[in-house]
Amino acid sequence: MISRDRAEKNFQKAIKENVELNEFLLFYKSLVLEQIKAFQDLEVVYSDLSQEYPRPKKLPLIQRIKLDDRYDEFLNHFLVLVDIFRKYHPEHEKSFDYVLKKPFQDRLEDEFPLIVEDSSAINRFLEDDSDYLDIIEQVLDFTRSLYFIKAADQIVSQADLSIWRKGYCPFCGTPAGYGRIDFEKQSRILFCPLCWQEWTFMRVKCAHCENSDPNYLEYIYLEELPQFRAYLCNKCHRYIRVTDERHSKNPSWSLLDYFVSIRLETVVQKKGYLPNGKN
Ligand SMILES: [Zn+2]
Ligand SMILES: [Zn+2]
Repeated sequence: MISRDRAEKNFQKAIKENVELNEFLLFYKSLVLEQIKAFQDLEVVYSDLSQEYPRPKKLPLIQRIKLDDRYDEFLNHFLVLVDIFRKYHPEHEKSFDYVLKKPFQDRLEDEFPLIVEDSSAINRFLEDDSDYLDIIEQVLDFTRSLYFIKAADQIVSQADLSIWRKGYCPFCGTPAGYGRIDFEKQSRILFCPLCWQEWTFMRVKCAHCENSDPNYLEYIYLEELPQFRAYLCNKCHRYIRVTDERHSKNPSWSLLDYFVSIRLETVVQKKGYLPNGKN
């Protein structure tokens, strides 16, 4: 886990270099620094890998995160994140007020272990609420992310990832959200936006449908941002953004590049491609 100081320095540098993304990056800097702080205070959430490991190579290593008696901790973290979201997205004030009320929190208390375990449970949980709760889905996603970051960090040193070559995370099963290219090893290192771990993948292969026919694979980049590429698959019409480390001024940190390369994302989505893992 990167230190808070280091993370802050890296974000500050990126903010200086990307003036037009200032607000956006300040927002994510606050969230990331909060996650790192909470990570340090968080007790063990999952540790016993020994009985289960090695698992079949298709299965992610984190099987369950059990939090049944930890609602207060979950709620506290959720509310801290709500405050950060509120500061940068005052236009969603109604949503933030809504989640402070008792009916919402009573339901959250009942459902939170499920919400942590399964991202689709968040959609089901928010289904009955009106549209303005989209932003709450994002806050809940960040809240649950903390537990996966912690769990993955606890098992990473025992995990043998040498046989894992999938487009989704070996720890939590989340589709890769970002990557960086290692030209020396002719491979890509993929990054999980939920648990923040990385793993190795092939350089010429679609992370979504595993197509490796070069006729259907291409990449694009913006001239003003040569350090970022989007790999496109013309079989499944998915893409993944990556850092081309040869053009990167700073040592790359996937989590930060994931935010900084957002302009490329806009261009690719306009062309009709969906992110890796998206159905
Ligand atoms: Zn993961
Ligand atoms: Zn594909």
